[in-house]
Amino acid sequence: MELKCSLCKTTYEFIYIKGEPLPPNFPFCSKRCKSIDLGKWLNEEYCISTPLPKTEKLTEIERKILTEFQDLTEFQKETLARLLGDEVETE
Ligand SMILES: [Zn+2]
Repeated sequence: MELKCSLCKTTYEFIYIKGEPLPPNFPFCSKRCKSIDLGKWLNEEYCISTPLPKTEKLTEIERKILTEFQDLTEFQKETLARLLGDEVETE
């Protein structure tokens, strides 16, 4: 599926393969964007303005995907959950 980078909004191809780790730069298009975003977090310039994903809407499979990636940061989990939620709503 095509995703927009969370930072620069560039569209990039996101491929989810079951059992495989997420792209190391997820949810960003590149290491550069990831680094910039991490810097923002560290500088506490970032504040979470988007609501948390409606996890009760996730299907069993989607929950499993999320729990498979327990080493993800909370931000990555929220982003993934939001993406999955969007997928469900648009289909
Ligand atoms: Zn980017």
